[in-house]
Amino acid sequence: MKRFIDANYHSHTYRCGHAQGSDEEYVVAAIENGFKILGVTDHIFLPNISQPGMRGDFSELKGYVVSLEKLREKYKDKIELHIGFEAEWYGERYKDYYEWLLKTGVVEYLILGNHMTIINKSEDDDTPVALNYGAMKDEKLATKMYVDSLIEGMESGLFTYVAHPDFFHYWYREWDEYIEKESKRIIDAAIRLDIPLEINMGPSRFLKNGIKEDELVYPWNKFWDLVANTKAKCICGVDAHNPNNYYETDYGFFKQFIAKRKLNLIKRVDLVNPFKNK
Ligand SMILES: [Zn+2]
Ligand SMILES: [Zn+2]
Repeated sequence: MKRFIDANYHSHTYRCGHAQGSDEEYVVAAIENGFKILGVTDHIFLPNISQPGMRGDFSELKGYVVSLEKLREKYKDKIELHIGFEAEWYGERYKDYYEWLLKTGVVEYLILGNHMTIINKSEDDDTPVALNYGAMKDEKLATKMYVDSLIEGMESGLFTYVAHPDFFHYWYREWDEYIEKESKRIIDAAIRLDIPLEINMGPSRFLKNGIKEDELVYPWNKFWDLVANTKAKCICGVDAHNPNNYYETDYGFFKQFIAKRKLNLIKRVDLVNPFKNK
């Protein structure tokens, strides 16, 4: 099957606890749908915190890499497989760990997908606990925290691209001046730092009776109207959580979505690793 994209750098595994299928089934599905490059970026496994249903346990790190390396070898004539993680930016808390992953080559790259932040349990208890932006009462504050941390992550130089930059639509439902200003901060940073923004194909698969642009959580059409006519690089991400997602995605919808806005679509990215060859 011929798709308008043949590289996908955003794909998950069952280890995160909310995805299904074997590692091999994802690879086969990507191949069958014409993909030449597959980057696997499961939700990053984090030391010292357990979040079942959100991300795999840290103890699964080795198994994840070994399994994907085997598949890379097995299917090397059909697809170029890359191993990465989708990670939030948690500031200093996990910076050393992210750097270690890239320095040692345990993974090749990271994409920045901010879903939550991690805070200390209380003032005198530094047990890390997750705080979902979407669960905060003040959606403006949640958005500001999301954007601040996203830009910090972009500035860290550790990430290849920004996954679903418009993720805030989950909690910020109406487009207004505030969200326009916050969106522009992300877009300006993407241009300044030359980091691609991802048009995420995930939620489009939740709509069963045909996709209507204004019913999507993301891509949020209003956000991408702002990206239109800028130099910001855009890349599509299948964000597969099931091998079937490669078949179910309405690629035609996204082709139009991009053409309509004359977005600066790129079909390949250079994987960012500031420690490579050093
Ligand atoms: Zn996920
Ligand atoms: Zn993802």
